[in-house]
Amino acid sequence: MAEQLAWIAEEVASLERQGLLINLRTIGSAVGPWMVVDGQRVLNMCTNDYLGLANHAALRQAAQAAIAEWGVGPAAVRSIAGTTALHVQLEKRLAQFKGVEDALYVQSGFCANQAVIAPLVGKEDVIFSDRLNHASIIDGCRLSGAKIVPYAHGDAADAERVIQENLPNFRRGLLISDGVFSMDGDIAPLADLYAVAARQGVMTMVDDAHGEGVLGRGGRGIVDHFGLHGRLDVEVGTLSKAFGVVGGVIAGKKTVIDFVRQKARPFLFSSAVTPADTAACLAAVDLLEQSTELVDRLWSNARFFKAEMQRLGFDTGRSQTPITPVMLGEAPLAQQFSRTLFAHGLFAMAIGFPTVARGQARIRVMISASHSQADLAQALDIFGTVGKQLGVI
Ligand code: PMP
Repeated sequence: MAEQLAWIAEEVASLERQGLLINLRTIGSAVGPWMVVDGQRVLNMCTNDYLGLANHAALRQAAQAAIAEWGVGPAAVRSIAGTTALHVQLEKRLAQFKGVEDALYVQSGFCANQAVIAPLVGKEDVIFSDRLNHASIIDGCRLSGAKIVPYAHGDAADAERVIQENLPNFRRGLLISDGVFSMDGDIAPLADLYAVAARQGVMTMVDDAHGEGVLGRGGRGIVDHFGLHGRLDVEVGTLSKAFGVVGGVIAGKKTVIDFVRQKARPFLFSSAVTPADTAACLAAVDLLEQSTELVDRLWSNARFFKAEMQRLGFDTGRSQTPITPVMLGEAPLAQQFSRTLFAHGLFAMAIGFPTVARGQARIRVMISASHSQADLAQALDIFGTVGKQLGVI
């Protein structure tokens, strides 16, 4: 290996020693409760397919029809020639579904966070950010050049303290929180955070990636869950999880969304999402508007699984949603746990530093409406066996 790259091998060896080397498994079938992973048919408990839409017949048909009519690629960024009637229709439907004035569909949830923050704040401004906010929020904050002041996780009183301390030194402020924290499954105290921000005169943004299609009436999201319609300035979401497709959404007050359309670099400089994906998202909105059945089943599966895991003696952390962490502590144990689950036919990945803090490694179980009672019973059986085998319970 070239001398100047030798440091990479050392870094990789160090990650391996710490049990932090990511092991990419190869999926050999469509997403579902059962999947072929590295050639083996396993019970899937680690995708974000909350509602089982990733391989739903209605979404597949919508995507196929869109390909027949529109072809496969957008061939342009949205602001040049990439805004099709499908994009416009999806944005209208998403705004209606979420009860906001306007919505903008972008390439991914990650991209949405890169797009929305820099138009709102710059070098003279300050962002108040929950200490456990998602990496895409942190990167979006950094791109803006604003000063980033963290506050204690989920703590509105601490947010108020840091706002009072710092805001006078800056032009304007923006408070940003994840809605559902993706590694712990806890819900941000959004009503309290909003009250603080309103009192202190700072703008508000929530990332609803894991609340979209999960929280609120029929999956309308965290703002609906707290009854905060029309209050927050902007919401970010993803169509890559509960909606089963791909893409991000920036939703909220029309003034904000119109301005983001003018300024957001991922919107202005990266091509539009494909017609097939956009049409599949429209089919997902149709399904969510027609019935709450999938959202209801997701929650009943999640409640059942979490209660049974706790009864077995597992620590599921502070989860309040279908995201179910199984707290294990050290990363090598979490990796060994995941490998042993896999050997027993269950696919659930270990999560370690830097995605979570050191010493808080875990298996993150993702429950779906598509899991049957038999699937959940089998998963509990396997977790029980592996937990005893490795001395965790
Ligand atoms: N925000 C949060 C809180 C997330 O958990 C994720 C997905 N890991 C994203 C944004 C990014 O969404 P996407 O996968 O659509 O890029």
